[in-house]
Order: sequence, then C-alpha cells, then structure tokens
Amino acid sequence: MRSVPSSDELFEIYKELDAMHSWRGWHWWPDAEPFEVIAGAILVQNTSWTNVEGALANLRGANALEPAAMDALTDDALEALVRPSGQYRQKTRKLRAFLGLVASHGSLDALLELHPACLRTALLGTWGIGPETADAIIVYAQRKPAFVIDAYTIRVFGRLGLGPASVSYDEWQRFFVDRLPEDRDLWARYHALIVLHAKHFCRKTRPHCGDCTLRARCTWRASATASAMN
Ligand code: SF4
Repeated sequence: MRSVPSSDELFEIYKELDAMHSWRGWHWWPDAEPFEVIAGAILVQNTSWTNVEGALANLRGANALEPAAMDALTDDALEALVRPSGQYRQKTRKLRAFLGLVASHGSLDALLELHPACLRTALLGTWGIGPETADAIIVYAQRKPAFVIDAYTIRVFGRLGLGPASVSYDEWQRFFVDRLPEDRDLWARYHALIVLHAKHFCRKTRPHCGDCTLRARCTWRASATASAMN
C-alpha cells in the first residue's frame, strides 16, 4: 500500500538526497549549453550516459554541437559521430527531426523562447521525442520548470512506498508537481539527485541500503530485512 506524503516529507527526502549526493558530478548541473543538453537528452535514450559522453565528444571534436553545423553533416557522417550512443541510425533520425523543429522556428533561441507548454507540445509532436526527453529539454535547456520522470524515479520512490502504483508518466509527474512549489532549480536538482541515488545506492539489484539515510522510511528495505530474518 502506497502512502500519501506531504510536501514536507518530499522536502525531507530531497534534503536527505542532497546530503548524500550533492558532491557528485552530474552531467547537467549546474548549467550546460542548451544544444548540448538537447543532443544529450536524445542520445541518452535506451543507453547509459557513459555511452552518450563518447558521442558528445565526437560531435564536439567535429564542431557539430550547434544546429547549423550538425545539419550540414551527411547522414553517414552524423551516424558515425553518434555511434557510441547505440541505435545510431534511429538517433541520427531523431536529431534530424529536432533540427527540423529548430528550422521551422527560425533558430534554437526562438524555439526556446516559446512558452514552456507550447515548447512541450512542439517537442512531443517531433519524431523520437517523448515526455521524458521533452521535460529534460524544458528544465535543463530552456531552464523552465518541468519535473522529469524516469525509471529511476519510479524505482526509488516505489521502494520508499510513495507515489502512484501505476507507471503512468503523467500520474508520477502530478505526484511531484502537486506537492512541490513550482521552482525550476528545485525540480532540476531533485531529478538529478534521484538519478544519482538510483545509480550509486538504490540500484536495481543489490542496492547499498546500509549507506542510505532514507532506509528508516524505506518500505522495500524493511520488507527485505523482515524476509531475511524469517
Ligand atoms: S534503503 Fe535501499 S532500497 Fe530503500 S531507498 Fe535506500 S538504497 Fe533504496
């Protein structure tokens, strides 16, 4: 049974996560170049950030981390550069679709000046961009409030016994935005901390619960401890 947390409880969890992980590096904090964020948000689909770093390094080395320069590349050249991120043909097509969106608005700056709700609609209408990628672009490239939900969020909060029982993106997003003030920096940092927690402590298998200061409130940890004692 999932409990319904108060805003205060979500803030307490945020502070615990911050205390555990704020010293760790994370690719999108505090600030990153908007087009690099967008390229990374597309390239990270279905792969790890380590693989994305290889693709971004290639793009940077080819001076292609800029819309016009990337657009000038042939498909073969772009595929070769993004190959380390996997699914390189699909990802080339997704980057091209995003470049088409930029072109239809005149420039990346013009696109990022849209109202966030309009930008989200435009992104979701672009081939290869779903809610998670769209919200990552809004919060980390446009720098407007959007709470990103991903599998890490559902894992960590599900283990804490909090949040919707479903895996619906919209329900999970409402769970956070209904309880937290609309604050871009808070939402950007909260998502980053969840990702860091899931990667370093709350792993899919063999999580490092002994190092986790959330363990006293964790239902998953409590049930794992009880079954070990039976
Ligand atoms: S106690 Fe373990 S399972 Fe629970 S949130 Fe922490 S790392 Fe995850």
